[in-house]
Amino acid sequence: MQLNKILEYQELDMKIYGAEKKFQSSDGKRKELYIRHKFSEKSNLINSLSQETDELFATLTKYASKLNEIEDFEKDLNIDVSSIDDLSKLDSHNKSLVKYEELITSSERDLKRVTGRLGDIKSEIQKLHEAMLALDKEYRTIKAYNNAKWQEIYQKLAPLIEKLKQLKNGIEPELIKKYYDLRKNRKMPAFVEYADGNCAGCGMQISIEVGPKLHKKGDYAECPECRRIVYLS
Ligand SMILES: [Zn+2]
Repeated sequence: MQLNKILEYQELDMKIYGAEKKFQSSDGKRKELYIRHKFSEKSNLINSLSQETDELFATLTKYASKLNEIEDFEKDLNIDVSSIDDLSKLDSHNKSLVKYEELITSSERDLKRVTGRLGDIKSEIQKLHEAMLALDKEYRTIKAYNNAKWQEIYQKLAPLIEKLKQLKNGIEPELIKKYYDLRKNRKMPAFVEYADGNCAGCGMQISIEVGPKLHKKGDYAECPECRRIVYLS
């Protein structure tokens, strides 16, 4: 019967699944994930810094047009003061001078701020690059270590994997597919008993939905809660 076969398959595969899980939570794997996380954190930081650089360059372009404005101002101011015969004109000329100086001072301040920030960003990015290079090196080392570790585990599991291959041939592909879908979602074991109206996987009471579908030993149905397959034993 199909169900017995898949249950046998599952029982063996649970050993592989357990070994995978253990490996995934090993120090080496944790370290690999941590480095990957750190690496993408720094890469995101570089992205946001280059975005800021773009914005600063846009600001610099704006300042360039402000410089044109200053030049125009200069032309207007560049007159012989002694030729001004009207006091109100002289007063307005003086006010323009003050405004001109203010414009120069504020432009200098803005320019200093932008170029200063650009310089900071440059060295920040450089530091980040260096850190990323170091992380990359560390990542390669730990990745190689983990690969070797996994090979070691896999070698030990090889006879089991071979047995599973043989068993698989006698099981409906649809059941195998269902099994691996659940396995992928870490709903393991995937095939569980239906006992007293409960799913033995998620523990939910599912007698209303599933009860009418199960009549005799070996009947099975999908749990509406966790999607595992529940069977009558
Ligand atoms: Zn369930």
